Amino acid sequence: MNADVWAFDNDGTLYDTHLEVENAIKNLMIQYIATHYGICEKSAIKKRCALLKKYNTKYTLIALKKDGVCEDDFIQKTYLSIQPSDFGIYPSVHLKELLSSLSGDKIVLTNNPSEFAKLILSALEIENFFSQIIGMREMNYAQKPAVEAFQFLIDQLNKGKRVALIDDCKENIDVAQRIGCDICLAKL
Ligand SMILES: [Mg+2]
Repeated sequence: MNADVWAFDNDGTLYDTHLEVENAIKNLMIQYIATHYGICEKSAIKKRCALLKKYNTKYTLIALKKDGVCEDDFIQKTYLSIQPSDFGIYPSVHLKELLSSLSGDKIVLTNNPSEFAKLILSALEIENFFSQIIGMREMNYAQKPAVEAFQFLIDQLNKGKRVALIDDCKENIDVAQRIGCDICLAKL
């Protein structure tokens, strides 16, 4: 397989235990909301749902940011407070071999904060394979499968590059095919 640019999703694509990780992060988010608004955990669960509805988003970070919460502090105390090894995320020989075998530029395209993807890549010891991580902030808060979230890939395609997307989400693969990516794999 040949491509000039390989774009990898992170969660569910580069590691498998994303549902457990997401759950742990969600619990940290509820604790954060409880502390920030000075409410009990039960009220924090309701508050989170109300904020997601108010700001019409699936992402707690986006809702809280719009509600005046410091994004960096929130990322630090939630996404960056998990220990990848607790979720079986360790250096992967398989991934290293696979990434070494692919020529071309490699990037990560993730709906989560790029800092979090960096934590995972570092735990997998594959950080050095990637020239950049495009996350929530870098996509200007657009979220895959919205086409705006694929802007970097569109720019590459417009330059005549062959682009591959590897993503565990079918909707994202559908968009990649629509915008003209050559290789679209649902999973590694
Ligand atoms: Mg995914």
